[in-house]
Order: sequence, then C-alpha cells, then structure tokens
Amino acid sequence: VAVRVLVEHDVCISSGKCVGDLPRAFAFDEDEIAVVVSGAAEVPDDRLIEQARRCPSGAIVVTREDGSEVDLL
Ligand code: SF4
Repeated sequence: VAVRVLVEHDVCISSGKCVGDLPRAFAFDEDEIAVVVSGAAEVPDDRLIEQARRCPSGAIVVTREDGSEVDLL
C-alpha cells in the first residue's frame, strides 16, 4: 500500500469497529486499544481509508508516503 495507518492510542475508545470490520488490519492490544497489524499492508488503500472514516472517535490516522495526512472528512 502507499498509505500508512496508525491508531492514536489515547483517542481510541475501544469500540471494536475496526477490529470487527477489518481484522486483517486491526487487532486489540492487551489494553483493548486497537493497533495496526502487519496484514494492513495487504489491504487496499481505499479500504483502509474507508475504515478510518468509520472510527467513531477519529483515532485512525492515514498518511501518505510524503507524510501528509489523508483528509477523512
Ligand atoms: S474503530 Fe476507532 S475507536 Fe473503535 S477500536 Fe478501532 S480505533 Fe478504536
């Protein structure tokens, strides 16, 4: 993929949305905060961006290779 995805640990409210919808890319850590897992590399950019938009707390941040943030609104 050309984009990078991360979960802002302090912003995730543990809704489970990303983990439930896209378990290839997201999992819960021991604190039930979502983290990005290696399978995210196999997920199309558009799908990752769509999933970031579905996060109820806006915790999923998507950046391009140049470091700029993808607008999720
Ligand atoms: S969808 Fe957002 S709030 Fe819910 S678990 Fe994933 S990162 Fe956390």
